[in-house]
Amino acid sequence: MPDHNIVAEDTLNLEQFVRAIPKMELHCHLFGAVRRQTFVDLSVKAGNRISHEEIDAFYTRGEKPVGVLRVLRALDAHLIQGPVDLHRITYEYLEDVHNHGVRYTEFFWNPTGTVRVSGIGYASAQAAIVLAIRDALRDFGVIGRLIPSIDREASPDEAVAMVGWMREHRQPEVIGIGMDYRENDRPPELFWKAYRDARAAGFRTTAHAGEFGMPWLNVESAIELLKVDRIDHGYTVIDNPAFLEKCVKMNKIFTVVPTNSYYLRTLDPQRWALDHPIRAMVRAGLRVHPNTDDPTLHLVTPTRAWLMMMEFGFGIDDMRGFMLNGLDGAWIEDDLRQRWRLEWSADFDTLRSKLTVQEG
Ligand SMILES: [Zn+2]
Repeated sequence: MPDHNIVAEDTLNLEQFVRAIPKMELHCHLFGAVRRQTFVDLSVKAGNRISHEEIDAFYTRGEKPVGVLRVLRALDAHLIQGPVDLHRITYEYLEDVHNHGVRYTEFFWNPTGTVRVSGIGYASAQAAIVLAIRDALRDFGVIGRLIPSIDREASPDEAVAMVGWMREHRQPEVIGIGMDYRENDRPPELFWKAYRDARAAGFRTTAHAGEFGMPWLNVESAIELLKVDRIDHGYTVIDNPAFLEKCVKMNKIFTVVPTNSYYLRTLDPQRWALDHPIRAMVRAGLRVHPNTDDPTLHLVTPTRAWLMMMEFGFGIDDMRGFMLNGLDGAWIEDDLRQRWRLEWSADFDTLRSKLTVQEG
């Protein structure tokens, strides 16, 4: 287990340090975390439904990266054929994050596509993912939690149906709902019934909002109308200083993604680190937590995502703060939160004492 080896070292360079610090992920999509070789294997198994050239293109990230949504759709349409495939990609994802010091992850999966397009029933699909979570806990000690996520390009009724499936097939590892896919013309409030039902059933809630340059109003609607516990992305919150200040006062946690395609595409590379909204969000006092989103497609790891936060000008104290933000944003019991806050802080400080670089 590489992280334990690193912990035993006397000195750490910055990358080793960031890799070893206790981390969690609160914003990662299962289908965006499929290893390249697994994608190839699934394609072969499905009768080479996707060409090698296409797979190469999916796993290449150019200077102006395109979005990954079509890759996620391709998995549902062509590659995921049975529960065993879902088990494999879940188990491998959890092994991968474990190797980067992630101790706890809440990750997204879109049941609507799996059920409607792949033709796998909700109960058996969820059971396969939950089994992989339990297998990974046994084998690596990493704790996984599943967030079924609304496909906002589908109808609001499908979202209500998804929450119904979750209620009917309830498992302790399945803890809340999210909402993703293309936000354009699909504002959060369209899905108020699914969020109402989820909250009434005791599930936690989050939503992608203010991604792809979509307006801060979507962040406001998610918080005020859907009453989400946290926000995924939410970058355009900085466009309305009064609302931004309100979010700071509400102590909302925003799960941010340094590799987000939209800003890599739209910001001048020379100004990227300076003009990225993440920088302004933290400067305003908003509590953020860095995440990988679609790690294998963004060619990023949890270690790299955290290192990228330092490219925005944040230092080691900020890293510690992000870690604590994650703990406050995680959907865990308060006594566990308290215990982890002490343990993770102690581990962070021990690792920090071994850091060889000048702290900036
Ligand atoms: Zn996302």
